[in-house]
Amino acid sequence: MGRAFVYVILGGGVAAGYAALEFSRRGVAPGELCIISEETVAPYERPALSKGFLLPEAPARLPAFHTCVGANDERLTPDWYKEHGIELVLGTRVKSADVRRKTLITAMGETISYKVLIIATGARALKLEEFGVKGSDAVNVCYLRNLADASRLVNVMQSCNDGNAVVIGGGYIGMECAAALVTNRIKVTMVFPEAHCMARLFTPKIADFYEGQYESKGVNFIKGTVLTSFENDSEGKVTAVILKDGTRVPTDMVVVGIGIRANTALFDGQLAIEKGGIKVNGRMQTSNSSVYAVGDVAAFPVKLFGGDIRRLEHVDSARKTAKHAVAAIMAPEKSAKHAVAAIMAPEKTADFDYLPFFYSRVFSFSWQFYGDNVGQVIHYGDFSGGKFGAYWLDKGRIIGAFLEGGNREEYEAIAKVVKHKTTIKDVSELERRGLDYALRS
Ligand code: FAD
Ligand code: NDP
Repeated sequence: MGRAFVYVILGGGVAAGYAALEFSRRGVAPGELCIISEETVAPYERPALSKGFLLPEAPARLPAFHTCVGANDERLTPDWYKEHGIELVLGTRVKSADVRRKTLITAMGETISYKVLIIATGARALKLEEFGVKGSDAVNVCYLRNLADASRLVNVMQSCNDGNAVVIGGGYIGMECAAALVTNRIKVTMVFPEAHCMARLFTPKIADFYEGQYESKGVNFIKGTVLTSFENDSEGKVTAVILKDGTRVPTDMVVVGIGIRANTALFDGQLAIEKGGIKVNGRMQTSNSSVYAVGDVAAFPVKLFGGDIRRLEHVDSARKTAKHAVAAIMAPEKSAKHAVAAIMAPEKTADFDYLPFFYSRVFSFSWQFYGDNVGQVIHYGDFSGGKFGAYWLDKGRIIGAFLEGGNREEYEAIAKVVKHKTTIKDVSELERRGLDYALRS
């Protein structure tokens, strides 16, 4: 039993949706492209799951947030794939891959072969069990990676109205879910090992601002520690979390966001792996020239950082790496007028030139970050609730910038100074002028 396609995308998340749109715009023929996904729905904008999807009033639901609405582009419903002759193989896990034979085998035993493969398997949420804590399969303990998790989280939230929640982890999931829980009138305690929230990106001063805002909405922070066990009732429901120092925090539900691991396992020993992801070149090509990797699973050279290999776990990178890979795959050898007989020539495609971009929205706050957060930090603006931000300087040049509460022009301005690695002659002037420095550069 088997099927053969010219192009196969393994994984049906954000990157897959943006790759499909790019394939169709570049003239993929009906029947040539197939997407295989373990999820039972067509690709959607995953960021919605920790934001609009969790709202108590008028929550976002599919089909409203299928890709590619997040980039203000076409919304690819299941009908769109049908109309374009793109095969969506949903609810299907690929259990093995053979890059030498160019085949994938599904959990149902079907062999799907390809000429070109795009790996877009994303990542999985880390489980507490991997840190030696048992019992995170209890009915009121939630993780958040896919639509099924989000639906479950909504049900658990609805079953503990006016109750208490413990959020484990102070990263993106922890911060966005804590805000959603508060909006759903649930009292939140956050527990994480670092000295402040979002420790991998925020400076202590930036974190202090957001923690203050969360506290003003009733959130309690327990920092610098981890949980060691759960206490359960006779039905197995978690009733309290026990911390390392023995503190007992009673709760009605738990949300866990303790990081992710890229889904590389199918290709271990077959493709080069770096930084926990599948290593690719500037055209998103892996160590096997017929196989590309995009999105959370790809570790790619960032030109802006001197070609340093990074694996970025963010939606903008998923969208753009996907488009770039397809552009390389479909790049014709000859000029457009001979495209019908074109031989594909990915080496004609320029290397991906990406400016790393992360963002979040919680309560009425909204921030954007561009570049890298290493080196000397210069804070600016009004940290009492107005517009504020920070620049990161390396060897006298701006390599990173953060801004809370900006408008489009302001975000574009901070992105530009990072992209150009603007040289700073007078650090005190940068500090004094703050955002204005970027706006007038
Ligand atoms: P994914 O979107 O995770 O898709 C991977 C797909 O592969 C899934 O459909 C999965 O089921 C499938 N798959 C994996 N293995 C197999 C297999 N063996 N067989 C078949 N199918 C398989 N980033 C931001 O920048 N801003 C945000 O606000 C933001 N919010 C987020 C909120 C949440 C709740 C989450 C979980 C992530 C958020 N992110 C955000 C991160 C962003 O969503 C990811 O970076 C992005 O989804 C990565 O896209 P991807 O296609 O690489 O992987
Ligand atoms: P993050 O890596 O952002 O944060 C994980 C947090 O959990 C860190 O505070 C980490 O601390 C902490 N942690 C690690 N181990 C433990 C433990 N045993 N007990 C308690 N805390 C622990 O991952 P998330 O899970 O928050 O997010 C998952 C993915 O979703 C990421 O790829 C993220 O980019 C994406 N996402 C992005 C959003 C956005 O961009 N706006 C929104 C939502 C999700 P330490 O650093 O010490 O390990």
